[in-house]
Amino acid sequence: MVTITRQHMVYQMTSSNPPAAYCDSGEEVVFETEDCFGGQIKREDQLMNGINWEAINPATGPLYVNGAVSGDVLKVEILKIDLADQGAICEGPGEGVTGKAIHDEATKIVPVRGRELVFNDRLNFPIRPMIGVIGTAPADGKAVDTGTPDLHGGNMDCNQIGEGATLYLPVNVPGALLQMGDMHARMGNGEVCVCGVEIAGRIHTRVTVLKGCTLPTPFLLRDGKAMAIYSAKTLDQAAEGATLRMRDFLIKEVGMDEHEAGFLLSTVGDVEICQCVDPNRTCRMEIPVYVTERYGYQFV
Ligand code: CA
Ligand code: CA
Repeated sequence: MVTITRQHMVYQMTSSNPPAAYCDSGEEVVFETEDCFGGQIKREDQLMNGINWEAINPATGPLYVNGAVSGDVLKVEILKIDLADQGAICEGPGEGVTGKAIHDEATKIVPVRGRELVFNDRLNFPIRPMIGVIGTAPADGKAVDTGTPDLHGGNMDCNQIGEGATLYLPVNVPGALLQMGDMHARMGNGEVCVCGVEIAGRIHTRVTVLKGCTLPTPFLLRDGKAMAIYSAKTLDQAAEGATLRMRDFLIKEVGMDEHEAGFLLSTVGDVEICQCVDPNRTCRMEIPVYVTERYGYQFV
């Protein structure tokens, strides 16, 4: 098994990042990740404006997957996530949605006790670990900072990208150059205060190269649901993009008639907001996997 330690952090997704490690298709790989603050916030008297913003949103990697070439799809199974023993959540004027309504900064440290988050004296929540930043290098030598989501993945902040999920990402460059970070112990849809419960940890994955796979990426399977993920400048555009990509998949891959696909999406498809606070916004369109199975379609 390959392990990539926190010594290998990058702040952009680009083909010019040298690989931190190599693996074969089908191999298990562990990514040790730092939190989105680069580990700079450990106490409640440490605020966002006091940290070095050059060191935020680090992603661990990149991983070079042997045999992956442009046009392939990279299947990333999230097998297990281990969390550190505390997370941090911050609020600041002008940051996110709730930042529009406040005048001072605050930080909250949230301890993790076993499978529980100790939110305050009244509230404990089950942890629901998820990966905020995960992606491959974009095409054409483009460099995208790790804070921005787009077609290569990146800072999608989709709270379904957690244990038991299978994520399909595009391969745009040789080796795919997979990287990930920005873990959350828990985050609601929207990420409205600009962060989730930000936490370091270890992500156990299995990484497989798929040849001839024509899924619209990024695409996600979890808990009996199939999800097309799309990021764009506005939430409207992100919702439309996710919907039209799922429609395209239903018509081209599952074999549905055009109108039947629209009717199906409007009957059982759920558009969900992943996040509404990053430089591009992200939405997903979710449908039940059994729908595709009734048409004889099987995910690889
Ligand atoms: Ca994020
Ligand atoms: Ca985050």
